[in-house]
Amino acid sequence: MRLCRFSHDRLGLVRGDEVFDVTAALDGLPAHRYPLPRHDPLVAHLADIAAGIAAAAGRAKPIALAGVDLLSPIANPGKIVAAPVNYKKHLEEARADAAIHHQKQVEEIQKIGLFLKAPSSVVGPSEGIAVRHADRRTDHEIELAVVIAKRADRVPKERAFDHVAGYCIGFDITVRGPEERSLRKSIDGYTVLGPWFVTADEVSDPAALDLELKVNGETRQRANTRDLIIPIPELIAFASSFYTLMPGDVLLTGTPEGVGPIAPGDALDASISNIGAMRVRVRSA
Ligand code: MN
Repeated sequence: MRLCRFSHDRLGLVRGDEVFDVTAALDGLPAHRYPLPRHDPLVAHLADIAAGIAAAAGRAKPIALAGVDLLSPIANPGKIVAAPVNYKKHLEEARADAAIHHQKQVEEIQKIGLFLKAPSSVVGPSEGIAVRHADRRTDHEIELAVVIAKRADRVPKERAFDHVAGYCIGFDITVRGPEERSLRKSIDGYTVLGPWFVTADEVSDPAALDLELKVNGETRQRANTRDLIIPIPELIAFASSFYTLMPGDVLLTGTPEGVGPIAPGDALDASISNIGAMRVRVRSA
């Protein structure tokens, strides 16, 4: 199943190049009052409303995907856990380029671990990236985003995939500089998730997905998730050894080589096999 959030907070079921409005299925989610749960209610209750989604899709008229605005498919992630330098060739390029490593030793992920991005940094592809600090280098990073299905507290890698709801394309947009990663990567709009959320049953081998990112038509990043230094199950085990992962939490698995600057006016075209493709525009903040 491919679910998107489109136009004015509609929930959509994506089939081919069409979307079916299944917003009515959200009536099956529990009504919440303060304090709100620290998870994404849609992901947490996806199994409960799957029949409602199918029924609503059966009643809906198809809408051309090309004509809708796509928002982040995960509306309320509790946290975004991200892996730094998790591809060997990106580690090599980061160590070779002073503008990336910024006079700081770039350590291997096994040593530096993971970092958090603010949930408030999340946008969808149609919202675009508004560049702040235009005087500083701001880079694109395409990453496979893993969406957590259910509470995961100190999960062994052998059971990690039981906790995966699905996948989407993620951008970890980054201001280069000497500050902590979470500061430089948590600017509003610097986490792009899209174009939709693909449930795990549709991705037979997440360790063999091609990623590609083009800037203004020119390929900048091209890699395959088989080259992750720490693979997905180990990342989930690692992350859940520190934090309890909750439904809708997002794990950004790290970017491959080829990172480079973006500027207002650029168009980023990203694709990941088995998931889809999205265009994201860059503008001034
Ligand atoms: Mn990254």
